[in-house]
Amino acid sequence: MSDFEGLSALVTGGASGIGRATAELLAARGARVAVLDLDPASASVGKPLLAYRADVSDDTSVREAVAAAVADLGGLDALINNAGIGAQGTVEDNDDDEWHRVLDVNVVGMVRTARAALPHLRRSRHAAIVNTCSIAATAGLPQRALYSATKGAVYSLTLAMAADHVREGIRVNCVNPGTADTPWIGRLLSKAPDPAAERAALEARQPTGRLVSAAEVAGAIAYLASPLSGATTGTALAVDGGMQGLRLRPV
Ligand code: NAD
Repeated sequence: MSDFEGLSALVTGGASGIGRATAELLAARGARVAVLDLDPASASVGKPLLAYRADVSDDTSVREAVAAAVADLGGLDALINNAGIGAQGTVEDNDDDEWHRVLDVNVVGMVRTARAALPHLRRSRHAAIVNTCSIAATAGLPQRALYSATKGAVYSLTLAMAADHVREGIRVNCVNPGTADTPWIGRLLSKAPDPAAERAALEARQPTGRLVSAAEVAGAIAYLASPLSGATTGTALAVDGGMQGLRLRPV
């Protein structure tokens, strides 16, 4: 029997990029999967998925979508807190409204879904929460002050939640991707003056010399969401082409 067979999982931001790859992988391995997204219609995958419209910056929307998804799934074992948005610039470039908007999605959004999911996760024998964090939480990337602050908060939140819920049998971990080849990065590159040069610079920043694939991040998330990682809680798994751990010249 597969380690995913019989598991029920909820993936926020599951209609695109890393979330979509995660939903596809979990479903292909036998899990029942529900996707929550602003735009769930684009969540079309090989295997039928349940899809719900939800805005993680709206508490009512999250509570209703989580309740509907869990009822249709017949329970919940894994919450994949993945929805997130980007922001560029230094502290001088984003005003208070922008700070509140991005923190509300990237940090409080994960708190809202966790609040809605925890009562259901307590009934699971294999409960796990996986938060999509980022290399930006720890690396000191230029021109990413606001985004990095949100991911630093996601990292701390992961540790605090892991401590709060360990005795309830709920594991909480995060993945820290480097630059991953998703529609998000496609949008970012399309705005650059020289997209090919910008892409090459992003590739060179990672010791492997290439971007991480969404499927590679999905593999790490699926591992942390499943009983395969049953003794692991309060950790950040780097999926970053060696960016965090290695001190090499870019290849
Ligand atoms: P993406 O833009 O391809 O997908 C993000 C998905 O989240 C979209 O389907 C979008 O509709 C959904 N979403 C956005 N705001 C939402 C909201 N308020 N409510 C519900 N859904 C919402 O992006 P991606 O690259 O797959 O990123 C996914 C996660 O991975 C994010 O948390 C991001 O910070 C993180 N991440 C991405 C990279 C990268 O290089 N792509 C690197 C590190 C971390």
